[in-house]
Amino acid sequence: MPTSATGWSKRIWTHAAAFVVATGVLLTTDSGAVAGAAPAKIKVVATTSMIADAANAIGGERVEVTALMGPGVDPHTYRQTRSDIVALVKADVVFWNGLYLEAQLEEFLGDLGKRKKVFAVGEAVPPDQLISHKTYAGRFDPHVWMDPDRWKHVVLAVRDRLIELSPDDEALFQANADAYLKRIAEIGVYAREALATVREGRRVLLTAHDAFNYFGNSFGYEVIGIQGISTESEAGLSRIRAIVEEIVARKISAVFVETSVADRNVRAVIEGAAALGHQVTVGGELFSDAMGQPGTYEGTYVGMIDHNVTTITRALGGSAPERGMAGLLTVSG
Ligand SMILES: [Zn+2]
Repeated sequence: MPTSATGWSKRIWTHAAAFVVATGVLLTTDSGAVAGAAPAKIKVVATTSMIADAANAIGGERVEVTALMGPGVDPHTYRQTRSDIVALVKADVVFWNGLYLEAQLEEFLGDLGKRKKVFAVGEAVPPDQLISHKTYAGRFDPHVWMDPDRWKHVVLAVRDRLIELSPDDEALFQANADAYLKRIAEIGVYAREALATVREGRRVLLTAHDAFNYFGNSFGYEVIGIQGISTESEAGLSRIRAIVEEIVARKISAVFVETSVADRNVRAVIEGAAALGHQVTVGGELFSDAMGQPGTYEGTYVGMIDHNVTTITRALGGSAPERGMAGLLTVSG
């Protein structure tokens, strides 16, 4: 019964909206009325977990951060859920990557930006450090988190927006951001050193989709994505065939799967190469557009990069400690 189902969902949404309004009013009254009470936490909503990690690290106890996209979630195709809408409506500030990463959320976040503070923090990377989109003229590759040097601009943008929201916390946010940026700089140095141990001819990173252009640009690796920069368009048979031929001709020995992209194309490439008598192995699973499980080292920005760098280095014959930069990586199988 479509009519009554629609009516039902409309009613639920009206209740949800009413609840949000009521709660918002109550919170405002509380924080304004109770003298000497701790100030209310700043409600931050971030689209990706990488941005949420920065907001948590900088905001500390002063923020309550919600990440819309958890482990394994693909931001290129993600659409907001009803609970996302509730969180977005209640938020004091919304951070998203922008650069057309969250293609399905653009319109919604654009509208929301007319009514509240919504910032595309990925666009804080200076234009001369952005890489052009391979498919769309005038657009840029959105995967800026893959290079710690570029990502620090995003972290600084998150810090500055939080300071604008809560000027009394400036010293705290500055100090937290400094400590966080120091760790990001450390993982950048580790990445450069580890990845340089791979023999030059083997510095080819073949992945499920084109998420590693900034990584390749920063660390001197050639990158090949089976699918393009966005996962929205499927890789056709001719694309798979061309990649197989390249793998065989260049004797590429490892390809990488990604936690947020289905692995069927990678499997097709491996099978195609095998049919031509060339063996390719899966070099490991990389965190491309989403981090690991919350509460784990891989579920932090630094841990995500550490995991990727260590996995790539070891799979391509370079040397890196099995447990990564700080001995914190989970060793699988
Ligand atoms: Zn991507």
